[in-house]
Amino acid sequence: MSLLVLKFGGTSVADIPAIENVADKVAAEVKGGHKVSVVVSAMAGVTDQLVAYCSEISQIYDAREYDTVVAIGEQATSGLLALALQKRGIPARSWMGWQMNIITDEAHGKARIQSIELNALRESLMKGDVAVIAGFQGVTSEGRISTLGRGGSDTSAVAVAAALRADRCDIYTDVQGVYTADPRIVKLARRIDKISYEEMLEMASVGAKVLQTRSVELAIKEKVPVQVLSSFEGDLGSDLNGTLVVDEEVILEQEMVSSITHSRDEAKVTLRNLSDMPGVAAKVFGSLADASINVDMIVQNLSSDHKKTDITFTVLRSDMLKALDVLKTKFPGTMIESSEDVAKISVVGIGMRSYAGVAQKMFMTLAENGINIQVITTSEIKVSVLILDEYTELAVRSLHTAYGLDREG
Ligand code: ADP
Ligand code: ASP
Ligand code: MG
Repeated sequence: MSLLVLKFGGTSVADIPAIENVADKVAAEVKGGHKVSVVVSAMAGVTDQLVAYCSEISQIYDAREYDTVVAIGEQATSGLLALALQKRGIPARSWMGWQMNIITDEAHGKARIQSIELNALRESLMKGDVAVIAGFQGVTSEGRISTLGRGGSDTSAVAVAAALRADRCDIYTDVQGVYTADPRIVKLARRIDKISYEEMLEMASVGAKVLQTRSVELAIKEKVPVQVLSSFEGDLGSDLNGTLVVDEEVILEQEMVSSITHSRDEAKVTLRNLSDMPGVAAKVFGSLADASINVDMIVQNLSSDHKKTDITFTVLRSDMLKALDVLKTKFPGTMIESSEDVAKISVVGIGMRSYAGVAQKMFMTLAENGINIQVITTSEIKVSVLILDEYTELAVRSLHTAYGLDREG
């Protein structure tokens, strides 16, 4: 008998037949003798619609009310799945974030979980009930509903698994695991059997949507075994060919590059002709940080007379208007340009540590395909470039081929 946390994403619960399919999977684990808790997302498209309603009222909105609105998608799914389980003779009960006491900080819209009060969940497990927990939601210490950022149900699931000391957290989604590139873009992408926590973290942070970055951070910190697998393929139960996220040592043969990842969620902002003096970057990025806006890639260029500087950086597209608003107030009269027409392409691999020439191969491949690079950033196991959005597919596919990642056939 294992203690399992199963998480089902939006496509997996997109309509009633899909929810019935999920109920069959959960029922199979329960009948297999496992103790099971479930975390669900909103039905596919529901959160997008709720976000769009908020933007329709105002482009820059009060994040507390945004959370009140966007959290409701998960509420409906958890109730529906509880009903589908009950129909199968499995005692099940829905739980909202606030009922589960998933306490978060006050950063509405991208709140972090601080603690989970487990008494209610333990009691329900002891009774043999399946708790169906609404993912994505928490509650602040002031008692207001909060949400964990897009894709946050993954983090809810890993947090519940960590708190319960579960044997595994199974993340069921609409693809069969973690691939060498988004399988929706690269038909020749290969499923990865085992991926290291560190590579998974890097992939998530540069845009592989399959796991939310914070869920991987938490899995590393709390040593939660995570498996990514499909809701739609294979038999019932979890003996499926998914991807296990594991410690680096478990992987015998490291590829130089394990995946090509893209993100279309970023926007580029440039401040022109700033005075080149100490404290300018601190003022730019300090004012953004004060507004809870995360900055990703950064380049700073000096003018030829060394008196002026241009600073270019990327933020989430959803934060761009807010960022422009903040910067216009802090830097009145400064020329500020922005563009949403960009994509970030990254090559990720632990093997990079021991191979030279990874970045060079990336730049060559992009050049051969006529793709111009706007910004470059690197880490120990990743190289990212910012390019024009329209070249995303071409860039990802050609890099996938260039690093020898294509599946045969
Ligand atoms: P869910 O609703 O189940 O949480 P998501 O849409 O958040 O699902 O994440 C799954 C999607 O992630 C896939 O449909 C796929 O298009 C995308 N994806 C991006 N990169 C990868 C990758 N390297 N491996 C697998 N899926 C990826
Ligand atoms: N429903 C939320 C979203 O679409 C959370 C999730 O699905 O993980 O972002
Ligand atoms: Mg997701």
